[in-house]
Amino acid sequence: MNIILFGPPGAGKGTQAKKLVDFYGIPQISTGDILRANVREGTELGLAAKAYMDKGELVPDDVLIGIIKNRLTEQDCIKGFILDGYPRTVPQADALAVILDEIEKPIDVVLNLEVPDEELIRRISGRLICSKCGASYNRTFNPPKKEGICDICEGEVFQRADDKEDAVQNRLSVYKKQTQPLIAYYAKQGILVTLDGTKDMEKVFKDIKAVLVKFA
Ligand code: ADP
Ligand code: ADP
Ligand code: ZN
Repeated sequence: MNIILFGPPGAGKGTQAKKLVDFYGIPQISTGDILRANVREGTELGLAAKAYMDKGELVPDDVLIGIIKNRLTEQDCIKGFILDGYPRTVPQADALAVILDEIEKPIDVVLNLEVPDEELIRRISGRLICSKCGASYNRTFNPPKKEGICDICEGEVFQRADDKEDAVQNRLSVYKKQTQPLIAYYAKQGILVTLDGTKDMEKVFKDIKAVLVKFA
């Protein structure tokens, strides 16, 4: 099963991706997590990406296309994958189509999580993520069981620098300008399914599974 989880920052892509990993046993490919790991490890890629990420801008397409090509050709993607946070521009989507054509793994479905801006801002301002596994928590809606510690891997949870007020506004406008056009792009291909992302996490997951039964 080859899935794209799509939606604005804070829509719940990462949260749902983790549930799908557990349920279907296919990997989550989060370009945000990959970039943050590179920043943390101080790689050349991380150094190049950091300034864009801190401002809430997109990292240049050629960087992302390189990352995704390497990742999709790894062994664990053989049974399928969950793309989370990629593609975010039309050139990224075009490049993805070429890569997937080469490895003969077409996208089955693009799950578009719809959430209004004021709810996105509420969610992002309370978001905490695990420094080790990238799991997403929320101070108000979904706190870790032990304060400051990831339920899954016991890593330390923290607030992302780009989840602070000024970068968030910019990320939402970047989304509207550069990423939202992909909704029409995938609708035209007949593979877009839009879901109400404002429901609680378990309800959204149930709706996602109802869509995915066709592809399992
Ligand atoms: P969110 O979960 O809030 O949508 P991500 O963790 O997916 O955020 O991404 C964080 C940042 O990493 C983005 O603001 C951007 O700078 C960079 N990034 C992640 N994925 C991509 C991508 N596909 N293209 C360009 N930049 C990306
Ligand atoms: P994305 O990966 O799309 O940026 P996340 O999965 O990181 O989004 O979720 C953003 C924030 O909102 C996190 O703090 C998360 O705990 C919270 N969240 C996710 N889904 C829901 C939901 N259905 N209802 C309320 N809060 C949610
Ligand atoms: Zn963790």
